[in-house]
Amino acid sequence: AEQFGMKEALQVLGVKEINEGTSTGSEWFSNGEIIESYSPVDGQLIGKVKATTAEDYERVMQKATEAFKTFRAMPAPQRGEIVRQFGNKLRELKEPLGKLVSYEMGKSLQEGYGEVQEMIDICDFAVGLSRQLNGQVIPSERPGHVMREQWHPIGVVGIISAFNFPVAVWSWNTALAWICGDVCVWKASEKAPLCSIACQNIIADILKANGLPEGISCIVNGDYRVGEMITTDTRIPLVSATGSTRMGRIVGAKVAERFGKSLLELGGNNAIIITPTADLKVVVPGAVFGAVGTCGQRCTSTRRLIIHESVYDTVRDAIVGAYKQIKLGNPLDEKNHVGPLIDKDAVNTYLSAIEKAKAEGGKVLVEGGVLEGEGYESGCYVKPAIIEAENHFEIVQHETFAPILYLMKYSGEVENAIEIQNGVAQGLSSSIMTNSMKEAEKFLSFAGSDCGIANVNIGTSGAEIGGAFGGEKETGGGRESGSDAWKVYMRRQTNTVNYSDQLPLAQGIKFDL
Ligand code: NAD
Repeated sequence: AEQFGMKEALQVLGVKEINEGTSTGSEWFSNGEIIESYSPVDGQLIGKVKATTAEDYERVMQKATEAFKTFRAMPAPQRGEIVRQFGNKLRELKEPLGKLVSYEMGKSLQEGYGEVQEMIDICDFAVGLSRQLNGQVIPSERPGHVMREQWHPIGVVGIISAFNFPVAVWSWNTALAWICGDVCVWKASEKAPLCSIACQNIIADILKANGLPEGISCIVNGDYRVGEMITTDTRIPLVSATGSTRMGRIVGAKVAERFGKSLLELGGNNAIIITPTADLKVVVPGAVFGAVGTCGQRCTSTRRLIIHESVYDTVRDAIVGAYKQIKLGNPLDEKNHVGPLIDKDAVNTYLSAIEKAKAEGGKVLVEGGVLEGEGYESGCYVKPAIIEAENHFEIVQHETFAPILYLMKYSGEVENAIEIQNGVAQGLSSSIMTNSMKEAEKFLSFAGSDCGIANVNIGTSGAEIGGAFGGEKETGGGRESGSDAWKVYMRRQTNTVNYSDQLPLAQGIKFDL
């Protein structure tokens, strides 16, 4: 049963009407301009956040670099204990935090809760990992020598996040970075700044209760100018940036210029291949949730369906039929499947994409449009659209962050579908619906999907934290979350130790004195 109304939720999360947007833990300050956060749900002003100035940022970096010296010395399993407490606190606050996510960002309440659940999951994963940051022992070619590899904390990690996962992306990065011994400076999206205030309050309490110094968890707020403070700062060896390919192109170059490392999680253009043996019971919910979930604002949202011509009409009719069942409206009302887009700019981008698709010859199967009237006052509610299109259309080649689904046909063998699937600049998520083992394995082979995520008989969206998450090509190449993604948050050191009385050189080189 629900315990919190929105007002109580904000209160328990420590989100006020006007919030300082800069914090090093328990200390809050900020001297920049005011960012207003309006809810796309009802158009109401939720609260204000003061942006971070260059001086505020400097104060943060002093605390962060100082804190790193303490934190890196703490044994990793003890750092894991901090993350365990963090995960438990998130369990307690799942309802209010999920509600804030839903209200500030506009995703359905179920997805808001799901996002907090992902935070909890990554904490659990990180706790276990805190006892497994293993290096390895490597055989040396020299007698009386031992070689090994160890992993050390890397330093201050900069995190730049997108609006669509306003809390989870932060925790995917911080939970791993903290157990690795790093400290974090997070610049939240200027489209969901209140979520950053809530998250910082949660972790600050835990750090304080454990007697840890300021600087382990820091937040800064503002637009790309505050992001640039991070990307150009040589004190930050790793920048993890989630957002558009446009942003990643700039951030990647800026960080590389100063020989920093970047972990880029950028846009996708995700497709489902539907083969003649695909099971409609799986295809329809997979494709529809993928296309309209989070109102098409997931990096893994399904943008394209590549359907075999022999089943095209059946699949098209089933999907068009399912779209008629979708309930649009207030995402906090659990009866509704789809909430609003993030803001009116996003609505305009959506409308212009539909126009472009039509101009290029696309045939509209399910009309789009902006919803008006009672309940839709924010002006951000749109109808999920379906357009028959071709892969080479310029608009299809781009990621439009909205619920527009492009349908296209393939003929002949699965290789032809794979070629269409791979025929875009992005490489995040992909899937095939088939009951043919050969088709599935071809899709997963070296000659198959070129994406970081390739699924069989499930859709493109909704990843679990146990696997490494990210994609190739213009998606940026970064991997976060599970598997061995932790390694990017550490620096690798190779050690050779000589315990003999001689000094044999490698490769048998003689150097006699
Ligand atoms: P965006 O690129 O507009 O902004 C993302 C963040 O980057 C914001 O915090 C923004 O302030 C910051 N930023 C923008 N320009 C910058 C610059 N020059 N220097 C430093 N920081 C800068 O993206 P958005 O609209 O918030 O999010 C949507 C995009 O994010 C989509 O393309 C989506 O696919 C992508 N995304 C990718 C993943 C992934 O894991 N691959 C996850 C979520 C979202």
